[in-house]
Amino acid sequence: MSAHEHLSHEHLNDDALLDALYGLASHEPHLRECPVCAGRVSEWRRKRESLADAADVGADVSSEFLAAQRRKIYERLEQPQPKRLRWAPALAMACLVAVGVLVYHPATPPAPQQHGDVSDSQLFSDAYSMDQSLEPSAAAPIHALFEGGN
Ligand SMILES: [Zn+2]
Repeated sequence: MSAHEHLSHEHLNDDALLDALYGLASHEPHLRECPVCAGRVSEWRRKRESLADAADVGADVSSEFLAAQRRKIYERLEQPQPKRLRWAPALAMACLVAVGVLVYHPATPPAPQQHGDVSDSQLFSDAYSMDQSLEPSAAAPIHALFEGGN
């Protein structure tokens, strides 16, 4: 019985050919002696390479597409948007004032030595009245911004 006769009974199946294609398993003994299976593997390898080329082209296209999208976004950002730009400083100022009030009035730490006779509710109302007295002066520049913006 010749080697070729033996091999002709068991060509590599698709799984085995894939294994050989991706180097997962070596079927070299068979591939070396069987031009049919070697031909199939090399054909698959060619197909895989052309698919990889296509994938590369796709990647180029998509990165170009993304770059175009970025350009569009930048262009849009550079376009003047008077309405929003006019309000932005005022909103930023309002945020700063809000943060300032929060920082200025943190949960007032109890100071029993100094204010032993002051109840929590009194402290709270004190802080509240400070808020009230602060508000007009802090809010004034914002109103000015709102009115000046028009
Ligand atoms: Zn074969």
